[in-house]
Amino acid sequence: MVVVMGPKATEQDIAKVVAIVEQAGGDAFVSRGKHRTIIGLVGDSDRFAELPIQGVPNVENVVRIGKSYKLVARETHPDPTEIKVGAITISRNTLTLIAGPCAIETEEQAMSAAMMAKTAGAHIVRGDAYKHRTSPYAFQGLKKRGLEILKQMSVETGLPSVTEVLNVADVELVAGYTDILRIGARNMQNFELLREVGKLRQPVMLKRGLSATIEEWLQAAEYIMNEGNAEIILCERGIRTFEPMTRNTLDVAAVPLLHKLSHLPVIVDPSHSGGKRDLVAPLARAAVAVGADGLMIDIHPNPAAALCDGPQALTADEIGPLLTEVATLARVMGKPLADPKQNLAASG
Ligand code: PEP
Ligand code: MN
Repeated sequence: MVVVMGPKATEQDIAKVVAIVEQAGGDAFVSRGKHRTIIGLVGDSDRFAELPIQGVPNVENVVRIGKSYKLVARETHPDPTEIKVGAITISRNTLTLIAGPCAIETEEQAMSAAMMAKTAGAHIVRGDAYKHRTSPYAFQGLKKRGLEILKQMSVETGLPSVTEVLNVADVELVAGYTDILRIGARNMQNFELLREVGKLRQPVMLKRGLSATIEEWLQAAEYIMNEGNAEIILCERGIRTFEPMTRNTLDVAAVPLLHKLSHLPVIVDPSHSGGKRDLVAPLARAAVAVGADGLMIDIHPNPAAALCDGPQALTADEIGPLLTEVATLARVMGKPLADPKQNLAASG
């Protein structure tokens, strides 16, 4: 259930609605948009329907949302969510570029990849210290040492970072080293982990599960937001289909669908989608053409020697021209690149 407050609603009116809901054992999530405040109610909808909410001054409408996800639904929050990360804002109005190595392997490799990302024009650097590998014998990441290197990548490039967290027990540690915590495809339905990152007040990137439907994915995001963390970035990374020639099948329709169903920003990972270097650029273009709010791309100073996902990693010669090209394409689509000066100017 969602309560839409009229444009003249005061803080007192909003507090009245929240108090009525909380007294009835429900939770109320207040979301203040540019024109309207919306209050999302979580709990027993039948019980809420009996409450005297309509009688509170300036309540414009009470809408029942018959969906399995509510807080992440567009109805709850008509204005698209904008997420500030360091100097940039991830939003539906711009294209945000993320690049970096799949795994942090050594300090030298990681720093070199971070500088490649910076030189190519990326806004955010990626790099994983903890790897979820299908085989237990594959490289599992440098763990805490990897996080220290990640911090160095971020400090030396001046770019914020994103990295994966695999376990509930590691959330606090990882959160101390990065700007955005990533939940990987294999953990999309690790509900305890979703709840744990939901307790943070730090952006979370939620990748789509290997075979997850869009509705299951949105319900996973709902777990995070239900704990109070509204800063969620959805990342389409391809789904498992019958086609073995690509690592996964990029679901381009997911981007416009999610834009309609949810208020969250949606980015695309063309590297894990195709799994092949030659497919990264065409899939990145496709993602921008369907309106993706950002791209996350694997790069490596020497892909042939990579300990993880070398076949899909771009080199220094490839990433620069690709980012320039997608920036041009995005401009044609009415989406300029995210501007690092925007937040700096706003913060004086
Ligand atoms: C990754 O981005 O490195 C990764 C492991 O991706 P996914 O979780 O989408 O498989
Ligand atoms: Mn990878």
